Amino acid sequence: METKLFQKLEQYYDEMVSIRRYLHQHPELSFKEFETAKYIENYYRELGVSVKGNVGGNGVVARIKGAKPGLTVALRADFDALPIQDEKDVPYKSTIPGVMHACGHDGHTATLLVLGKVLHELKDQLEGEYVLIHQHAEEFAPGGAISMIEDGCLEGVDVIFGTHLWSTEPLGTIQYRVGPIMAAADRFEITIQGQGGHGAQPHRTRDAIVTASQLVVHLQQIIARRVNPIESGVVTVASFVAENAFNVIADKAKLAGTVRTFSEDIRDQIEEEIETILKGVCLANKSEYVYDYYRGYPAVVNHETETQYLVNIANQIPEVLTVQETEPHMGGEDFAYYLQHVRGTFFFTGAKPDGVETAYPHHHPRFDFNEKAMLVAAKTLGSAAIHAHQEEKVEVSN
Ligand code: MN
Repeated sequence: METKLFQKLEQYYDEMVSIRRYLHQHPELSFKEFETAKYIENYYRELGVSVKGNVGGNGVVARIKGAKPGLTVALRADFDALPIQDEKDVPYKSTIPGVMHACGHDGHTATLLVLGKVLHELKDQLEGEYVLIHQHAEEFAPGGAISMIEDGCLEGVDVIFGTHLWSTEPLGTIQYRVGPIMAAADRFEITIQGQGGHGAQPHRTRDAIVTASQLVVHLQQIIARRVNPIESGVVTVASFVAENAFNVIADKAKLAGTVRTFSEDIRDQIEEEIETILKGVCLANKSEYVYDYYRGYPAVVNHETETQYLVNIANQIPEVLTVQETEPHMGGEDFAYYLQHVRGTFFFTGAKPDGVETAYPHHHPRFDFNEKAMLVAAKTLGSAAIHAHQEEKVEVSN
């Protein structure tokens, strides 16, 4: 079965590339991916695959039933682009000013569409059911995953797999990790309200710049002195705004930043520690504050059995040269939500372009990836999906 799957994927590789390039030329921003959603839906419809559009927004879900009973396996690909001007000099560059597929979601989509076509062609010989989740809006919280789950995309699903093409890792590399692989990505905003006044009369003011500066310094002790050193986290103040004339003492200062964590306990702790320090610093400086903490995606936490299973599968793919454990990434991904509902794993597929020493990173205006990585991803996801039924280990043990 595996041979047939691989042969067909190779046979349709050119189609995969042309789908990817078409999508690359026609990118759409998160929550506005109307044409891309239509394209995906039509692709399945023309093949005669059962497909549903407008799932939790612009999401599209196709279902393929094998002839024999078995598990229900979900595979997920996201399809939104970013507000970035494409600066690459390639024939397939974006035709939409200021919008670009700068994270490889076009590749994820082409991979899953063609894999879907192959699974459909092989369905008489397959066990179980395959749920192909094409998710809109990954790049912009609250993201598309939550609403798609609420709209039933995980109904009956036993296990889920997803991958991200990764331009800075060599082609032929699969990177996995048991437990947290991507971080929870939160945002905070703070306004310090002091009392402005004449630059020559500081004793009549409560200088918001001095207060906010103390705060920035004291926030550093959250990671250094409050969080257990065995755990990890990031507290970054990324913006500090308090603009005045040269002879005016600041009335207010605004700070904004991000918090990255891997465990919910540490996430709760940091949210609280920021306020404790804020309260103390403002008390000492006789100033007021407003504190807003916005939770982004939770951490992507891979399940152990499914991750080990994926490692075994990846080791048997001829194009996979290296299977390695990755360090956790501090970036966020709303694949996290699927893993809160069903067992599964999310992994990285190396996609470094040929002939470059250092690839442009994701979200860069010159980002591109090696299209051959789509075949590696399709074979790995496809193989993981069709074998999940034989592998007792993957059976859900609630
Ligand atoms: Mn991405």
